[in-house]
Amino acid sequence: MAVATDREYGLFIAGESVEPASGEIRELIEPATGEPLAKAALGGEADVDRAVEAARTALDGEWGKTPGTERARLLHALADAILANRAELAELETRNVGKAISSVKAELHGVVENFRYYASAIATIGGRSNPIGGSLLFYSLKEPVGVAAQIVPWNYPLLMSTWKLAPALAAGCSVVLKPDPQTPLSALRLAELATEVGFPAGVVNVVPGDGPTTGAYLVRHPGVDKVAFTGSTKTGGEIMRLASDPVKRVTLELGGKSPNLVFADADLASAIPSSAWAIFYAAGQSCEARSRLLVEKSLYDEVVSKMGEYAEAIRVGDPLAAETQMGSLISSGHRDRVHGFVERGTSEGAEVVAGGALPDGPGAFYPPTVVAATNDLEIAQEVVFGPVVTVIPFEDEIDAIRLANDVRYGLMATVWTQDPARGHRIAARIKSGTVGINMPYTAFPGIPFGGYKQSGFGRELALESLDLYLETKSVVVSTGARPINPFAL
Ligand code: NAD
Repeated sequence: MAVATDREYGLFIAGESVEPASGEIRELIEPATGEPLAKAALGGEADVDRAVEAARTALDGEWGKTPGTERARLLHALADAILANRAELAELETRNVGKAISSVKAELHGVVENFRYYASAIATIGGRSNPIGGSLLFYSLKEPVGVAAQIVPWNYPLLMSTWKLAPALAAGCSVVLKPDPQTPLSALRLAELATEVGFPAGVVNVVPGDGPTTGAYLVRHPGVDKVAFTGSTKTGGEIMRLASDPVKRVTLELGGKSPNLVFADADLASAIPSSAWAIFYAAGQSCEARSRLLVEKSLYDEVVSKMGEYAEAIRVGDPLAAETQMGSLISSGHRDRVHGFVERGTSEGAEVVAGGALPDGPGAFYPPTVVAATNDLEIAQEVVFGPVVTVIPFEDEIDAIRLANDVRYGLMATVWTQDPARGHRIAARIKSGTVGINMPYTAFPGIPFGGYKQSGFGRELALESLDLYLETKSVVVSTGARPINPFAL
């Protein structure tokens, strides 16, 4: 198989692959080998103009008149096409991102299910009517927000594109999607498949490009009605600023520093493997990675040493090999950044229990790393976005909740305890968008996903997201028989 390397990738605008008008062609590097992977076009301002115009034309034309039942059929057809092309998509994503193909295959399952979920969710779109009383009748209509700009990061290019595209298309919006310039391939292929199954030209446009230039231009574009962004908290703040003139609707899925609480009564047979999975899958490059492992003091030494053993047993290697559990990071530059956190952590007093050393050889690999530390260190407070877990002791339940909430983020939390009442008490007191009780998995179509605090606002994956792509129009009607004469003149 050489699906990525045997072609040059254009931008995808108005139903076809096109050359960039004002952008450039860039060579992509395969993270796990350091070798060239493919040539891909990056869009500039003129390309964004073209894509926004194509999206508007689609919305004002055939797409704007497409009923919900037909949108649902198209979403199911796209899910079928993804399933039929899953081997190609899995290889593309694996080679472009460097993560293990076993993870990517699981993500593809989520991609298909997400399109199916929103195909069904279309049936929930509807206004309401309300007998206000007197001679006033009210009813509301749900209408698509318009042209949505969607900006996604490099860690899950296909899954994040899907999380954004599916509700937007279900709601009847048209889209200009901007993937990260390092990882455009799977989103481009997805747009091709959407066109092949019958989405009208211009409904799904993909313009990969650099964030501060092309991305910022897209956010500011007056032809864009809504911006949905996934990425770092810092860029999320900048997006809010850029989306303020002219004013646009904004939703933000941002960073996380999610806690994983292990109480002394936890079932360690689940808690240890699950805690390892919750940080090391996708090499820790997940917004909801449980990067802070909070452990009750009486169990601390045991958990630290078991996590160290577990980290060393994880099979790191060729992302395309079926047995690999963790591939490379996205780039050697990012790997150096991750290592910098570990080095500064040790200089501040953290102790490396496993991993923590830069490996020799090609590819952006970094070992699963376990660090014993306290919650005040940089490595416990900042988003490392790599396979590094910080293990922190706590005294009791109150202390555990205090530490869990003592970060600026609030995306996800997991609790391990065999006391059900305690699990629910903690779920009620932790400030995060999702709480798992004895359950490490996080993202399921139908369950709202998103942040508290600096992890952003708005929800994905659920009915709540559909509403973020819809406007509510209130229609008020007089049903009275007498003339209406407000000034009574
Ligand atoms: P980033 O914010 O640098 O980039 C994300 C996207 O924004 C990219 O497509 C980039 O090109 C674009 N971008 C950058 N600057 C821009 C600007 N000024 N205007 C418009 N677009 C711009 O993020 P990153 O560091 O590459 O990605 C990792 C971050 O994403 C982490 O902080 C992680 O926690 C977060 N993340 C969050 C979620 C979630 O659902 N909450 C999911 C995945 C990743």
